[in-house]
Amino acid sequence: MASSSELLETIASVLRQRCPRCHRGRMFRGWVRMYAACPVCRQPFEREPGYFVGAMYVSYALAVPLLVLLAVLVHWLRPGWSGLWILAATLPLFLPLAPLIFRYSRVIWAHLDWTIDPGA
Ligand SMILES: [Zn+2]
Repeated sequence: MASSSELLETIASVLRQRCPRCHRGRMFRGWVRMYAACPVCRQPFEREPGYFVGAMYVSYALAVPLLVLLAVLVHWLRPGWSGLWILAATLPLFLPLAPLIFRYSRVIWAHLDWTIDPGA
């Protein structure tokens, strides 16, 4: 079981999008381009073929609540609008956040996997 200081270090590492192994190396080199391996400890980020397919579950878990929150915000600002107009106004607000969701879904996935199985 991880100690609370290890948990805080992992949370800080996720927020800063750092390597799940050393918590120092950056995982991304651009908006959506990842390093193949950690620039500090050389741990490969894609541990097996198709490794980041599982990040889609994390992406879904991040995106749906965010979309609902934005829709509620639009509904609160424009209470008379129909559902279709709320959706039409919500999507342009959501799209700029898609790269962030992409990045954090991969970072969270890598950290979850590393926490469960740090062996490889
Ligand atoms: Zn590292």
